[in-house]
Amino acid sequence: MIMTTKWHKLIVAGGLRARLAKWAIQWWRSPAHLPLEVDSMPRKDPKTGRFVFGKELTLEERFWPKVDIRGFDDCWEWIASKIPAGYGQIHNNGTMLRAHRVAWELMRGPIPKGLCLLHHCDSRACVNPNHLFLGTKADNMADMEAKGRRRSAPPRGVNSPNAKLTNEKVRAIRLSTLPQRVLAKMHGVHQSTIWTVKHRKSWSWLAY
Ligand SMILES: [Zn+2]
Repeated sequence: MIMTTKWHKLIVAGGLRARLAKWAIQWWRSPAHLPLEVDSMPRKDPKTGRFVFGKELTLEERFWPKVDIRGFDDCWEWIASKIPAGYGQIHNNGTMLRAHRVAWELMRGPIPKGLCLLHHCDSRACVNPNHLFLGTKADNMADMEAKGRRRSAPPRGVNSPNAKLTNEKVRAIRLSTLPQRVLAKMHGVHQSTIWTVKHRKSWSWLAY
């Protein structure tokens, strides 16, 4: 009797070994052989084309390990890749984002369209949201010019070798209701220094 079943036809037409190999490859590439995990769905790794388990990290989860997080008032430097201008950059959905803008959006919310995100501190690699502020394009130009002038100026704040005040002292002075004369004596500075601190003519980058 001539072989007429489906199986026999397959063997004759394609070759059983070739088909078995094809099935094996399909099975290997599919998530079927992987152990089941309750909290994760299989996803395709774009590099290898294989299905892999494990949660894909969100932008936020990838972002903060790349930041040298320090104190409230300190610069938080971006330790991953930077563009030549000095700003940090991070990859997301096929686009490169500026790290300081991402930091602001993660902590403060979206940046309104048309507004720039500027640094209080001069460090472009800094992503501390307390050192960032929103401004218009005109603010940006003015700020750039101010920074250009400031470049040759001595370091400010606690970084200045002549600084007698610290962040904590400045806060204490601003909160204190004592006369400025008394505060000046207490901290060993001139009364005019207390006045500039109180009126935010100096140490203006401290949030409080
Ligand atoms: Zn900073």
